[in-house]
Amino acid sequence: RFGVPITLIARPDVSVEAEGIAELLEFVSIQDTLLSIWEEERKGRIAPFWGEGPGRLAAVVLTPDFHKGSGIPVGTVADARGFVVPRAVGNDVCCGMRLAVTDVTHDELVPHMAALKKRLRAIFFQGQRNIPMSPRQREALLRDGLWGLAETAADNQGTGIWQYYDPARELHDLERVHFNGALPTEDTFAFASFIRASGAKDGRDIQIGSVGGGNHFVELQRVDEIVDGHAAHTFGLGRGAVTIMAHSGSVGLGHVVGGHFMARAHELYPKGLPHPAHGFYVMPTWGPLAAEAAAYLSAMRNAANFAFGNRLFLVLMAARAMSEVLGRTVETRLVYDAPHNLIWEPEGRAGRFLHRKGATPAPGPDPFESPFQYTGHPVIIPGSMGDASWVLAGLGNEALLASACHGAGRSLTRGQASHVSDDVYRESTGKLDVVTPIDPDAPSLRGRRDILEKYHRRMKEEAPYAYKAITPVVRSVEDAGVARRVVRLAPIATVKG
Ligand code: 5GP
Ligand code: MN
Ligand code: MN
Repeated sequence: RFGVPITLIARPDVSVEAEGIAELLEFVSIQDTLLSIWEEERKGRIAPFWGEGPGRLAAVVLTPDFHKGSGIPVGTVADARGFVVPRAVGNDVCCGMRLAVTDVTHDELVPHMAALKKRLRAIFFQGQRNIPMSPRQREALLRDGLWGLAETAADNQGTGIWQYYDPARELHDLERVHFNGALPTEDTFAFASFIRASGAKDGRDIQIGSVGGGNHFVELQRVDEIVDGHAAHTFGLGRGAVTIMAHSGSVGLGHVVGGHFMARAHELYPKGLPHPAHGFYVMPTWGPLAAEAAAYLSAMRNAANFAFGNRLFLVLMAARAMSEVLGRTVETRLVYDAPHNLIWEPEGRAGRFLHRKGATPAPGPDPFESPFQYTGHPVIIPGSMGDASWVLAGLGNEALLASACHGAGRSLTRGQASHVSDDVYRESTGKLDVVTPIDPDAPSLRGRRDILEKYHRRMKEEAPYAYKAITPVVRSVEDAGVARRVVRLAPIATVKG
């Protein structure tokens, strides 16, 4: 459509809803907008916008978890030349998945589940996270991501969560984080107040280490099937091992960045021209307005760096709960951490801006010495709190923009899912340990119907039946030559924010 090639990765047994496709075509129609702005500019009817020439939407790839989103569908990869679209990244900048493997086996954990759930609830939801950070650490995190955090770790060594943070291990793990855990930038956008905040008192601290609502989670899982023994070994995933998977983003910081630059892109749009659908305002990366796009990309980097830190702490918090309950230090080793809402600037390809919205990178074997030199990078694909999750190995399939799905994807909208009967909901989650903010069994909360109902409805939106079955989704990316299956992970307990 509009001269833009669109490729959908999905086996016939994966459903793709028409609403999502309709939404996608509205996004793709920006290709027409790009050209009409250039037409007007050439005729001198508007102020200079592109300068040298118009941007181009070169290709779009859709992943098998594709479904309607808010503005742009989830599961969209857009290869943009000469422009960025803040709306196509959205507010949850650098939302992503982090997976670590522990030295605990599932058998060892089983007798401690009740105690563990209690500790998880206390740490995640009852104010016991304890993540003190100095202004220097906050600034280092925003500018240099996990690298900045490792460099300043001494500021709080031995206090709170930092007892579980080992700078040597974290530095070593950086090679297992996409972008090596840092999108460096000199600026700190509008985050001076976040940097200065020195304690939990003013509320700004509450952000780091918070799971975030709804679809975000921290899940304990076990490796229950190994498909590729060599890659599993390289990734550190042995059968029966307990893993910790965190799905979260940049919470409040990403909202500030997304909101500000969606509005800015709107302001920069040439006056008097028809507006693009759904607020898909573009920012040129060359020509007279290039500095505006650069400011967006810098702020996006700040929020992304924060998100890497957020996921790191979420995994440490779960490891800490396990250590306390088992009465020994639980060792963790990172498998991988990758964002799925972000703009990538492929090296050596100036002017190319790969937007991934709810899609995860699937890089192949590194051409240099690295942990993933012989296997390709790990690709984390969660299912739901009632289904398996998968780890695959990327194949670097450039024809499909080296992108995989970032989950199973919704099969029901939030509204549809919340109207399913209580019995069906209980059946779908019955065998699971779901750790939620409000414990329906806690005596102090009995009778607080408003909260219980709110909790109940929100959880229904996230019920296993609200998501597509994971197996055909994962097979779709495998059949397409995007990534190979390595291990399957079964859920043990899910912390839902
Ligand atoms: P999104 O980033 O679009 O919000 O969601 C990512 C994916 O996470 C969803 O498509 C879904 O497959 C998966 N997911 C949502 N909730 C859970 C959960 O509690 N546990 C696991 N393992 N996966 C989940
Ligand atoms: Mn998110
Ligand atoms: Mn996400």
